[in-house]
Amino acid sequence: MTKHIFVTGGVVSSLGKGLTAASVGLLLERRGMNVRMQKLDPYLNVDPGTMSPYQHGEVYVLDDGSETDLDLGHYERFTNGPLNRNSNFTTGQIYQSVIKKERMGDYLGATVQVIPHVTDELKEAICSQDGPDVDVVITELGGTVGDIEGLPFLEAFRQVPLDIGRENCLFIHLTLVPYLKAARELKTKPTQHSVVQLRGIGIQPDILVIRTERPLGRDNAEKIALFCNVEKEAVIEEVDKTLSIYEVPLGLAENKIDQLISKKLNLQTGPLEMDDWKELIHKIRNPEHEVTIAVVGKYIEHRDAYKSIYESLDHAGFSSQTRVIIKRVSADDLESEEAELLLSGVDGILVPGGFGARGFEGKIKAVKYAREKQIPYFGICLGMQSAVVEFARNVLGCTDANSTEFEDTTANPVICLLEEQKKITNKGGTMRLGAQDCRLSPDSKSFECYGKEMISERHRHRYEFNPEYRQRFEQAGMHIGGTSPDDVLVEIVEIPDHPWYVAVQYHPEFKSQPLNPHPLFLGFIDAALSRHQERVSAPV
Ligand code: GLN
Repeated sequence: MTKHIFVTGGVVSSLGKGLTAASVGLLLERRGMNVRMQKLDPYLNVDPGTMSPYQHGEVYVLDDGSETDLDLGHYERFTNGPLNRNSNFTTGQIYQSVIKKERMGDYLGATVQVIPHVTDELKEAICSQDGPDVDVVITELGGTVGDIEGLPFLEAFRQVPLDIGRENCLFIHLTLVPYLKAARELKTKPTQHSVVQLRGIGIQPDILVIRTERPLGRDNAEKIALFCNVEKEAVIEEVDKTLSIYEVPLGLAENKIDQLISKKLNLQTGPLEMDDWKELIHKIRNPEHEVTIAVVGKYIEHRDAYKSIYESLDHAGFSSQTRVIIKRVSADDLESEEAELLLSGVDGILVPGGFGARGFEGKIKAVKYAREKQIPYFGICLGMQSAVVEFARNVLGCTDANSTEFEDTTANPVICLLEEQKKITNKGGTMRLGAQDCRLSPDSKSFECYGKEMISERHRHRYEFNPEYRQRFEQAGMHIGGTSPDDVLVEIVEIPDHPWYVAVQYHPEFKSQPLNPHPLFLGFIDAALSRHQERVSAPV
C-alpha cells in the first residue's frame, strides 16, 4: 500500500520546503523506494501559467504540457519518479472541478461545502498518485501554516490518516529557529507557536526539520522536542548551506532523517546509496576551472525567474569541475548601454525565454555582440527568436525584421504565428506546450552534443520561425540544426562558422539533473571554458 508523507512549513515562507521535500524524496529513492512527488498550491489561479515571474518565479513545464510550480523543478532535479498533471494542484483547479461537478448535478442535491466536498476533492488529488508499485507519495503544501487559504488543504491532510491509517502517514513540519543577535541566542518560540497552530488543526507533526543559521545544540533540540511533543531524534536540524543546494540531502542524511522515516512508516528500505552524490559534492567543493556566463533577461533581479537555467548551467559545470559564475545582465539596461560595457569579459552569453516587448531590443544587442565577437551563444525560446530576428536584420539586411509578437505589421515577419495558433485567444494553456519530438540534422552542433538524431524536448511558446525564410537563412550561413519530425517547424538554428552558436525553440533547462547534465548545456559550458582558457593564456 502507498504511504503518504506530508510536508508543511511554519514561521516564515521561503524556508526551502521544496528543496527539503525533494531531498527527502531523493534519500528514499536512494534506499530503493518508488517515490512520487506532489505540490499543492493554495492560490486561486488554475495554474501558474498566467502569473508574472515577479509573482511566482519560473513556470516549470512537464512532459505532458502542464505548467506547474517551480518546486516541481527541484523534484525533477533531485528525484526520478515521473511527474504529470497530478503532481501539482491549486485551489483554482480544485474549485473548478468541484463547481463543474455541481453544475453536472453530481452532488445529487446536496449543499456543496468546503467540508466535505472540497476536502474530498483534495483527498482524491492527494491519492491520485497511489498505485501498487508506488511506495511513498510526498505531498508538499505551499505557503505557511496559519494562512487562511491553506486551511482546507490542512483539513484534507488531517483526514487522510482517518481513511488509510495513521501508521501509513507521516507529517514533516519545516520551521525556522532564528538567531537573535542582540540576545546572542537561537529562539525556539516561533517554532513552538507554529506547531501549536498545526495541532489546533488536528495535526501532530512526527518530524520537525529546523532551518537555522547556526547549529541548534542539544539543549534547544530537547526543548523543541518537549514543547512540540515530538521525539528527540525527530528534531532534525538543517543548517544553512552556503555552497550548494545539492548539499541539503547529505545534511539530512547525516541527521538520519531517512532512517527515521523508514522506521516510522515501516518501509522495507535497502541501504542508503549516496556515493555518486558525495562525489558530486566533492567536485562542487573543489572547482578547478571557472567561466563567466552572461544571462540576459528581463527578470534578472528576481532570484527564481530563470531558476532552471541557472541550475542547468551549474550542472554542466559540475562534471568538469568548472565553477559557473553567472553575470545577470538586464535586457532593459542593454537597450540604452553599449553592449561592450555590460558584456565584455564574459565567456558565454545566454538569452533565456520570455514574453512581451520589454527588453527585446537589448536581447537583440546581446545576440549581435555574441555573433560578431565569436562568443559562445546559447539562445532558448525567445533567445532563439531574438537570434533569428538579429540575423535577419544584420546579416540578411532586412532591417525591419521582427517577431509579430512585438510588431504586427512588420514587412519581414521572420518569427510569426502559424495558422493553428492564430485561432486561440484564451490565455491558459493555449501555447505549444510539453514534450515534442525533434529531428536533428546530422551535420549540426546539436547532433554532436546529443549524439543521436531523434530527441524529445519541452516547449512553451506561441510564435514560430517563419518557414518562408528558411532558404534565405541557410544561404546566408544560419543552419537549421533541427526540425519537427515532419520538417514543418524549425526547432534549432545554428551558425556553423562560429565557435558555438546554438539557439533552440524549446526549453532544455527542464531536463537537466546534477548527475545528468543536459547535452546542450554541456556543449555550451565546454565552449565557454575553451574561450576562457584561450583568453587567459593569450599574451596581453
Ligand atoms: N514569447 C515567445 C512565444 O510565445 C517565446 C516564449 C518563450 O520564450 N517561452 O513564442
